[in-house]
Amino acid sequence: MKPGMKKITIFKSLGNIWSSMPESKKSQRADNRGVQVKPFSAAVKFHGHVCPGLILGYRASARALKELSSGISADEELVAIVENDTCAVDAIQAVTGCSIGKGNLIFRDLGKQVYTFAARDSGKAIRIAINPDFQIKDIDPIYWDLRGKVLFGEPTAGERREVARRSKDVYKKMLGMPDKKLLLVTRVKIDIPEHAHLFKSLRCADCGELVAEHRARVKNGKTVCIPCAGEYSRGW
Ligand SMILES: [Zn+2]
Ligand SMILES: [Zn+2]
Repeated sequence: MKPGMKKITIFKSLGNIWSSMPESKKSQRADNRGVQVKPFSAAVKFHGHVCPGLILGYRASARALKELSSGISADEELVAIVENDTCAVDAIQAVTGCSIGKGNLIFRDLGKQVYTFAARDSGKAIRIAINPDFQIKDIDPIYWDLRGKVLFGEPTAGERREVARRSKDVYKKMLGMPDKKLLLVTRVKIDIPEHAHLFKSLRCADCGELVAEHRARVKNGKTVCIPCAGEYSRGW
């Protein structure tokens, strides 16, 4: 099981909490540079539940749009390079419009809470890392301990309720705290990845399904898809 899956199941029940909470004032208004940032509820709607990772992704996305003076990326105006595949990445897709499907969300499997955003028109780029000094347990140590038990132990029904109750306040504080407590932001220069390409589809000679030309393989002189080609490796 992928790490985090258990968390998703458990926190599903917390999803309803958010709908009864007032939208944070910060997330409703345009910021002082006139950049309109979608409200947090848009990220929740996309992701399906509220969780700390989603909030971190939301805060990073909001900061990125402001830094790059950008609205949501309808096409490939923005590029996001994400270094993990956690809940945060769903907020980035919902709020910045950088998505896997459009090809302007690039995933690097480094397991780091680091997000780099670039604007094609200005060439500006920023790197946002989650502040390593930020700890949820500093907001509410009881919530943090109980959350650990809910995620990884054998909590009582009362402990689950207590986590749900306390989480509302923790989430509100995370949404409202100053950027610098949550995010380390640096301007960077990067080679912005080129636009996503479209490729011809070829028919796999084995399974008959279509495969993009740049991902096709040749097996016994015939064009096949990667699963039909099979693995060959000497371990290096
Ligand atoms: Zn989540
Ligand atoms: Zn095939």
